[in-house]
Formats: sequence, structure tokens, C-alpha cells
Amino acid sequence: MKFNFPVVIIDEDFRTDNSSGLGIRVLAKAIEDEGCEVIGVTSYGDVASFSQQQSRASAFILSIDDEEIVEEKPEAINALRDFVKAIRYRNDDIPLFLHGETRTSRHIPNDVLRELHGFIHMYEDTPEFIARMILREAKSYLESRTPPFFKALTQYAADGSYSWHCPGHSGGVAFLKSPVGQMFHQFFGENMLRADVCNAVDELGQLLDHTGPIAASERNAARIYNCDHLYFVTNGTSTSNKIVWNSTVAPGDVVVVDRNCHKSVLHAIIMTGAIPVFLMPTRNHFGIIGPIPKSEFSWESIQQKIQDNPFIEDKNIKPRVLTITQSTYDGVLYNVEDIKEMLDGKIDTLHFDEAWLPHATFHDFYGDYHAIGADRTRCKESMVFSTQSTHKLLAGLSQASQILVENAENIQLDRDVFNEAYLMHTSTSPQYAIVASIDVAAAMMEAPEGQVLVEESIMEALDFRRAMRKVEKEWGDDWWFKVWGPDDLSEEGIEERDAWMLKANEDWHDFGDLAENFNMLDPIKATIITPGLNIKGNFTKENGIPAAIVTKYLAEHGVVVEKTGLYSFFIMFTIGITKGRWNTMVAALQQFKDEYDKNQPLWKVLPEFIKKNPRYEMLGLRDLCTQIHEVYKAGDVARLTTDMYLSNMVPAMRPTDAFAKMAHRAIDRVSIDDLEGRTTAVLLTPYPPGIPLLIPGEQFNTIIIDYLKFARNFNECFPGFETDVHGLVKKVVDGKSIYYVDCVRD
Ligand SMILES: *Cc1c(COP(=O)(O)O)cnc(C)c1O
Repeated sequence: MKFNFPVVIIDEDFRTDNSSGLGIRVLAKAIEDEGCEVIGVTSYGDVASFSQQQSRASAFILSIDDEEIVEEKPEAINALRDFVKAIRYRNDDIPLFLHGETRTSRHIPNDVLRELHGFIHMYEDTPEFIARMILREAKSYLESRTPPFFKALTQYAADGSYSWHCPGHSGGVAFLKSPVGQMFHQFFGENMLRADVCNAVDELGQLLDHTGPIAASERNAARIYNCDHLYFVTNGTSTSNKIVWNSTVAPGDVVVVDRNCHKSVLHAIIMTGAIPVFLMPTRNHFGIIGPIPKSEFSWESIQQKIQDNPFIEDKNIKPRVLTITQSTYDGVLYNVEDIKEMLDGKIDTLHFDEAWLPHATFHDFYGDYHAIGADRTRCKESMVFSTQSTHKLLAGLSQASQILVENAENIQLDRDVFNEAYLMHTSTSPQYAIVASIDVAAAMMEAPEGQVLVEESIMEALDFRRAMRKVEKEWGDDWWFKVWGPDDLSEEGIEERDAWMLKANEDWHDFGDLAENFNMLDPIKATIITPGLNIKGNFTKENGIPAAIVTKYLAEHGVVVEKTGLYSFFIMFTIGITKGRWNTMVAALQQFKDEYDKNQPLWKVLPEFIKKNPRYEMLGLRDLCTQIHEVYKAGDVARLTTDMYLSNMVPAMRPTDAFAKMAHRAIDRVSIDDLEGRTTAVLLTPYPPGIPLLIPGEQFNTIIIDYLKFARNFNECFPGFETDVHGLVKKVVDGKSIYYVDCVRD
């Protein structure tokens, strides 16, 4: 595979007809004759934005004129220095050459000199010789940047060998035999299909037993992430979580689990046959899930839960694993060192589900508020695992995930034992494009670039928040959207971590009496609050704007958000963020406000939606908002959902036993009206927020049933805005929707 990385020449005479211009153009021609593109520009221009181009170049040649290096003209040296600094800020290695006619290194200050790969004196050597010297450096630079597996894969795909192995499309050839296959081939392109090979290809190594280039890449990523072991996973963090669990949890084991966990963790409970005790997070009336209070982590509190659990016979049993959602949807983080200190040796494995947090280790801003990294104190007895979705915040393809391991002082990971669990969940036909993307995503975070990329996404997130506040100020008493977060933000730059700490009894979060230095908010997650509801759960009289309408509006205007709540929705600032993207969001929200204030007819502002739901055709945007707002208000739904999630969930049987009833069809399909006291056999998950509410084996209480009745009624009134509850089965009988839940047969 030949990549296209031009050599960039910066010389004010590049287009001039003097001898210096002639000289540099002869060199450019010699480089092009060697097969490399050259881009010539005449000034440093905007240094910051130009240095961003470092990711596209293979080398820079910077000219410095004779007369520029006299002491009277320090500007030229300063401009050179600024440019070199800006490049080196992100990139330690890209070759930089200085080009002059008679001057030598003696005239260049040391701090610039030490960053250079060479000093080119035209006329001393032939242009061909110099071109080859530059390209040799450029080539070795690019090769040093390519991580092992990606390198091997690109070489293999370019190699043109005939394959007799799977996949059957044989490097894409099968697609060429039909018109629709041709379309597929043209859309994804030759390389994606040539690189889609099976694990029989020896020179690429094996994901399943971690050998060859794949193993080298896993080690490379382990070095970059500062952990003892790192495993690539091609089926998402959903699978990473199950691997971690199956490697350490067996039937009947006790596990300690964040009640606000991803459903994959609940699946792991069912699959392993574990008995869970839950740590309960706080919640505010925006529906935002807060931290689990520090006191819940105390060994006394966990022991009490074990005491109280009817399914645990041996009350002195040591829990096998603790799983915590490290970075909730809304960005709440825990001080990992505190948790380690409290539970080291008490629980066998501490597992942080960092699906949203692979970036934190690359920036000091996050300090101790992520699981594994440089300068961490190991636990003495407990292993620490982190599972991360590289596809969520870094540059991984969908399903790209990884498992990080930190050994304890006295216990090391047994890789062979661990791999048995890894094999249980890993396809025997892993998708190599995903493997390559995990490999590349890690290599991209190599110092110093990783820190810069993370810093930039934090900065953009902060600039977005500042822009939203500025708009709010300008609207004065008029309504505007708020971004959830601390009140006092600095005017510019990246702030102290302290500004983002969740402190006790602050109004903005309303999570109550939080322990000191235990939680912070990750600013790159931004929860936007729409008007209509305050943090105490009270609804406003006017301007109630349910978030679902805003996000529908945004979607029809090309802005798709991550998650929608009642009066909030959530966006994130990944390393793929651009100023264009968030400024478009601010502009689209301004537009929404304008159309809302004018009560524009829905056929005009939500044409796609109205096509599917003509019943709303005659309404205005504000009318619709008000109608839904009134129904939410009448149902007191903010309190209802908060109370429901905080209500006492009573387990009637072990999750795995309840789910076994599903497999054996020993279940009844029970309508909402008859659920009181019944035991669910399925996971019940309302969207929003997408956090499981009841897990198999738990009993329905009245407040949960009230919520389901509200959702049923709401769905009747507002088709197109249905509250989706996974686990609720809908059947339409005589034009009426009836909802059921599969419950354990009594
Ligand atoms: C998304 C998510 C997962 C699952 O990750 P996938 O890569 O989508 O499988 C696990 N845990 C949490 C907290 C998540 O948000």
C-alpha cells in the first residue's frame, strides 16, 4: 500500500524568478521525480492552523534566507521558532529540514536546531541526492508511525495473493458478479474488501490466542495506555464486560454492581448465575443519574447488603467483582484511588466500565478519576480491569473495544485462564477492519498527540458551554437552553479540575451531601436542559419544551443527538469534534427558539415527521410543546420516574433462575393492569433513559406499574413520541394497544 503524504516546502521565493526560487523548485522537482507529491507555499501563514496539517505531511522543508539570519532581523527566526514549536506540540517525529544557501547551523538558535533533522545546503550536493535523503527520512518517519497489525494488514492486502480461505467473497470478487454486489463493492471500495481476511492468514497473527502482529499491537496499546495487559475486543464493550465477568465469576458467587449499569452487565449476572447486591446512585429530577454516595462503597455497607440478601447463604463470602459505570451517560466520574483504598482485598476484582472514558488517561485534567494509567498505586490484592469502547470517544469503528488489566502487587493475571473466558465470547471470524481500528486508535494517542487531541475536545466542549451562556445572557429574561454543569466557569482556557468537582449540596446537581473529592464531571459530555422543568421536579407554567420535540427538530435539520430525556438531551465532544459541528448546534437551537416563539406550523418545521404523523398537521410548534408539557405535568412524571428508579426493588429469585423460566417458557404474559406482585422474567428498560429498571427475578411495585400506565396513556395520546420500554410486549387488539410483560409463572 502506498500512502499519499506530500513533502511540504515553505519558502517565500517558491514562486519567484530569482536564484533562490529556482533552486528550491529544482529540489521540488527532484522529490516529485522520486514519486512523492510536493506542496509549495510561500509563508507560514496562520501557524496554528498550518501546523495542524502535520497529519497529512511526511516532511517539512523550511527555507531561511541569507539576509534573514542577521541579528537585525530576529522576526524571521521567531517565525521559524513559532512554527517549529507548533509542529512539535503535536508531533515529535515528523522530519523538519532547514534549507539555506550559505548559512550554517551556527546561525540558528539551539532550541530550534535541536528539532531539525537536517540542514540542506543547496549546490553542495545534487538535488537528486538531497531528495533521496529527505524521502528516506520521510519514509522511516511514516513507518515508525504505523502500528504492527495495521502495517501487516496493509501489506497483506497489497500483496495480491489468491485466497482459498474464508470469507467466501474472496477479497471482494464475489460482489462483482451481481449488480447489487457491484454497488456494495463500489461503495466500500477495494481495500476494505481485500483487507477482510480470515484468521487462517498466518502472517497477521491470531486474535484468539494473541500471537504475531495482533499480539504486538496489543502490547503496543498496553504501553500507550499504561496497563499490564490489553486485549482487543471486536464485539463492543458489551462483550468486554462479559469476558471480564466470565473470567472471574461462577454460579452462586456474590457480585457488587452499580444499579446504573449497562445492560451487558446485567446480562453477565444472568449468564454467570451470580447473586448481585446493588450500589444505588443518586438521581435528580432532570432524570440525571448522579454518583453512588461514597458511603455505599464502605465495606460495612456492602456487608450489610450481603446480610440482607435472602439468596446469599454464606454471609462471610468474599464478593468476586465490583462493577462501576465510570463515566455515566451524563459524565459523572469517581475517584478510583479512593475506591481502591476502600475495597482492596475485600473484593477480588475491581471492574470499571469505562465505555465512555478511553480518553481520560491521556490528560492530567482527569487525575485519579479514571481506572488505569501512569503513576497509579496498584492494589495489593485486587485486580483492576477497565473496559473501554474505543468507538465511542476515540477513532475506532463500531464495536471496537478493549480490556485493560492492572495486576495487583500480590496477584498477577493468568493469561491462559483469562483467555478461556475471552474465547467464550470472541467470534472465530473476527473482523480485521475493527482490529485495525483499535490498533490505529491506540497509536493515534501516542504522546504528545494523544494529550493534544484530548485537550482539544475539552476545549471545544468548554467553548460550546461558553457560547451557550453568552447566548443566554443576550436573551436576558427570555428563555434559552442551559448546559448542565457547575455555575462558575472561567472565561477562557482549560480550567482547573476543581471547577468540575461535584461538591456537597450544590443546587446545580442536587445530588445532596456528596463526599469531598470523590466525584467530578467530565466536561466533554454536555447535557442540554430544555425549559419546562426545574431540578426539584416542578413544572413551569409557560414555555414547557419537552426535549423529544427539540431533538426531532434537530434531526430534521441534520443534527442527530446521542440520547433524549424528558427535558434534557445529551451530546458529546469526541476527538472527532469540529467547531463547525457545535456551532451548527448552537445555530439550530437559535432557529428552534425562533420558530417556537412564532409558533410556526408543524407541517413547515417538521415536514418529515408530519408526513408520518399527519394528525399534528394543524398544530404549531409551541402548541405541540405545550400539549405534551401539560400531560407530563399532570402525570408529575419527573417525580414519578425519579421515585421509580429510587424505589425499593425486591428480588424474589436469583436473576439467572428467573431467566431460566424464559428459556423453559415457564412464564405468563401479564398485562400492565395485573402486574402487582408479579416477578419479571425479563429485563425492563425504559427509553429514555435506557437504564434497566427491573431485572429478572425482581417484583413489580405500585410505583413502577403507575409509570407503565402513564407510558401507555402517553403513547395513546402522542403517537410518534412513544416511550419505548424494552421488555414491554405490545399487541394491537381491535385497534387498541395492550402491553404485557413476561413474568415468572406463579
Ligand atoms: C455503550 C456502553 C457499553 C457497551 O459498549 P458497546 O461498545 O456499545 O458494546 C457498556 N457500558 C456502558 C456504560 C456503555 O455506555
